[in-house]
Amino acid sequence: MTDPDEDDFLNRLHGVEHAEFVRPSDADPARAPEQCAECGSRDVRPIHKMRLYALFLALVFGVGLAVDQTLAAFLLALAGSIFFVIGPRWRCAACGRKW
Ligand SMILES: [Zn+2]
Repeated sequence: MTDPDEDDFLNRLHGVEHAEFVRPSDADPARAPEQCAECGSRDVRPIHKMRLYALFLALVFGVGLAVDQTLAAFLLALAGSIFFVIGPRWRCAACGRKW
């Protein structure tokens, strides 16, 4: 006779493995999600990060050059780049959720 707790554990383990196997094609960041995971709305819009990023870089280097602090500007741009890379890509127009 098998321990029911052990069966539950194995089932869960299999479920996790399956989820990991499915994930790469499922959550393709380049493709727009069909709906919001929070409220189910299909009104999902892309956040135009590149436009904001270009503006941010122009501002940082503009100010950096003006005050002769190009190294500080470079470091700030680097920190900003990380922020833009990890920042949300999609926004739900219905509930405002970003991911
Ligand atoms: Zn939503």
